[in-house]
Amino acid sequence: MAKRVGQTKVLLLYSQQEGKCYYCGQILEMNQDSRIGTSVDHKIPQSRGGTNELENLVLCCRSWLVGYNGTKNPGKGESSEQ
Ligand SMILES: [Zn+2]
Repeated sequence: MAKRVGQTKVLLLYSQQEGKCYYCGQILEMNQDSRIGTSVDHKIPQSRGGTNELENLVLCCRSWLVGYNGTKNPGKGESSEQ
């Protein structure tokens, strides 16, 4: 089971990315207690050995992770990272 990313790291990422989505630059909605519409993504998926360290994490808007039917987009990030 995937480990949860701590709020401290989330806030650090939010600061580093200036509150914008890593992929599309959209402003992320977030406050101290919740991250509405904001997701943490792993540059290297945990299923491929990625870690929960800061250098492997990015914040992105939820539309990048959730498809129209509410499931994870299977094609996201697999071929567009370079
Ligand atoms: Zn985005």
